[in-house]
Amino acid sequence: MQADPSSANTEEPPAAAPFRSLKTFHSAGRGFWHDVSERDWNDWRWQMKHRITTAEQLQRLMPTLAPEEFAGAKLANHKLALGITPYFFNLIDPSDEHCPIRQQVVPRIEETHTASWEMSDPCGEDSHSPVTGLVHRYPDRVLFLVTDRCASYCRYCTRSRLVSNASGYDFHPEYDKQIAYIAAHPEIRDVLLSGGDPLLLSDEKLENLLSRLRAIPHVEFLRIGTRIPIFLPQRITPELCAMLKKFHPLFISVHTNHPRELTTEVRDALGRLADAGIPLGNQSVLLKHVNDDADVMKALMQKLLMCRVKPYYLYQCDLIAGSAHLRASVAKGLEIMEKLRGHTTGYAVPTYVIDAPGGGGKVPINPEYVLCRNAGRVLIRNFEGKIFEYPESADGRPCGQPPKEISEPELV
Ligand SMILES: *Cc1c(COP(=O)(O)O)cnc(C)c1O
Repeated sequence: MQADPSSANTEEPPAAAPFRSLKTFHSAGRGFWHDVSERDWNDWRWQMKHRITTAEQLQRLMPTLAPEEFAGAKLANHKLALGITPYFFNLIDPSDEHCPIRQQVVPRIEETHTASWEMSDPCGEDSHSPVTGLVHRYPDRVLFLVTDRCASYCRYCTRSRLVSNASGYDFHPEYDKQIAYIAAHPEIRDVLLSGGDPLLLSDEKLENLLSRLRAIPHVEFLRIGTRIPIFLPQRITPELCAMLKKFHPLFISVHTNHPRELTTEVRDALGRLADAGIPLGNQSVLLKHVNDDADVMKALMQKLLMCRVKPYYLYQCDLIAGSAHLRASVAKGLEIMEKLRGHTTGYAVPTYVIDAPGGGGKVPINPEYVLCRNAGRVLIRNFEGKIFEYPESADGRPCGQPPKEISEPELV
């Protein structure tokens, strides 16, 4: 039994699946952990306990680790901790330094480079926080931070100032105060649980929190933002689903960036959530060398639909300190959106947004389809570039029939 990944046999190549087609579902396989019992492997607490958390472990498991990655991993615990579940590690292609999975979770030394326009709190959350762990930016809803822990750490995390506590933010949510604030604000009808990852809580703790929120009469709608189904599908147990089901309407937003993340394990976990009646959405972040390509993005969006997940948002990468090496341009994002809308299922098209730097909230950005608009008409173009006119005028008269001259007597 190789319970400790650092003692794993490095002679044994990981079962890096030859991902033939982006939309084919594959299992992540066992890789270095082929000796681990089925029971342990499928136990989410085992996966958490055996995460890769040090540069040395990473190097032992992946001898192809680049010097920039080793140095990044060495420094990670001062900024945003290194953590990769064995399950997710198996999706990394060790022969490809720009592997889209690898780039999301393996630190690089570039994380220590901070451009002058980058920030530690790019969305200005701390300044919109009436009580610790609650962000109240929009009129009718709040972001409720449940924990600072995640199953694995995304290197471009917008909340890395507090997530994993590597930089000493010392985040301690105070549920009593957070709940009291919501109870005292009847305008709050929607509570979004996030973090850190809310699904890292035990079923009991999460049930307790959801019950307390449900007991507030003006809270109409609950949702959870989580990457657990992707990093740790083993956590999505039948017991968890049965518990979540009691709190409808409850939506879940997951976070995927590349079609390879949608394995058979993930598809099954998402299926269990969907079977519990939970509507599923996805949030992606536009990332250089990961998904800044229209074919990859389209495959991801279509594969999400095959997993019963509706693509919700595509985020322009926040200006988080140390993320320049992962950031793709807005021009690239617009080009990708242009290649989605009309070219594939409307359900597969997310809303592309920039979370306004400093705290303005999410602002949708779109390729321009309105070529000209005035009191008489709207000139539009479709996905093929064909131009159409939609007649419109203030008094409802169709365009092309200019308002007839109003004669003097009628004016009286
Ligand atoms: C994203 C976000 C929400 C939810 O926004 P929706 O557009 O309703 O999904 C709420 N609060 C904060 C602070 C957010 O960043």
